[in-house]
Amino acid sequence: MTVSRFPQADFLLSVAAPAQFPLDQGAEVAFAGRSNAGKSSAINAIADRKALARTSKTPGQTRLLNYFELGPSRRIVDLPGYGYAEAPPAEKRKWVPLLEALRTRDSLRGLVLIVDSRRGLRAEDFALIEWAHPDRRGVHVLLAKADKLNQAERAALLRESRAALGDVATAQVFSAHSGLGVREAQGALQGLWETGTVTLKGGWLGPTAGQKNPR
Ligand code: GDP
Repeated sequence: MTVSRFPQADFLLSVAAPAQFPLDQGAEVAFAGRSNAGKSSAINAIADRKALARTSKTPGQTRLLNYFELGPSRRIVDLPGYGYAEAPPAEKRKWVPLLEALRTRDSLRGLVLIVDSRRGLRAEDFALIEWAHPDRRGVHVLLAKADKLNQAERAALLRESRAALGDVATAQVFSAHSGLGVREAQGALQGLWETGTVTLKGGWLGPTAGQKNPR
């Protein structure tokens, strides 16, 4: 039996208005991705909990920020999936100030962006990276559902993604289903919490393994 890396992982609170954020202390990392990218599955795999984040939610019902505490003063904040049809204006009015409030928090150390491996990085993903102020915070991209690609496709996707991201973010392949890259993603999360940067190790990551956020 293996010991969970985050034995105390638990839901903390949902934020529906700027006044509801937890105290701006300790360290937190945002998790974001297009709807259906595999974000909830990634959170559950990384936290080593079956149903911490709910998977396959109904779009539109989840316009809240959900906080999880993985250890003392170590939080992740789950952002609603983006990329589905324009949200109704009333929802947007609530949502925009929440995102603005989140990005001004000192405790927000980084962003983990989940991207479906079969879709790759898109303009909306880059917009979210910009939102996170990548000059001040670490951004790490999980190329999720990588079990759907063969080895050569994974290597090509990783190469292309890293070229597109340049110095702005680190990237790795990841699969919640097969467990590929889960340990590396846990390490990346730890790095973001502790230093706001990510250092990747491990040969399977491809020819540019050892890539480091240049901050
Ligand atoms: P979210 O909407 O981004 O939170 O995505 P979910 O985690 O709910 O996953 C969306 C769909 O992708 C579900 O049908 C999952 O079973 C599937 N999925 C998630 N992770 C993986 C993975 O690692 N491999 C494969 N093949 N499918 C996955």
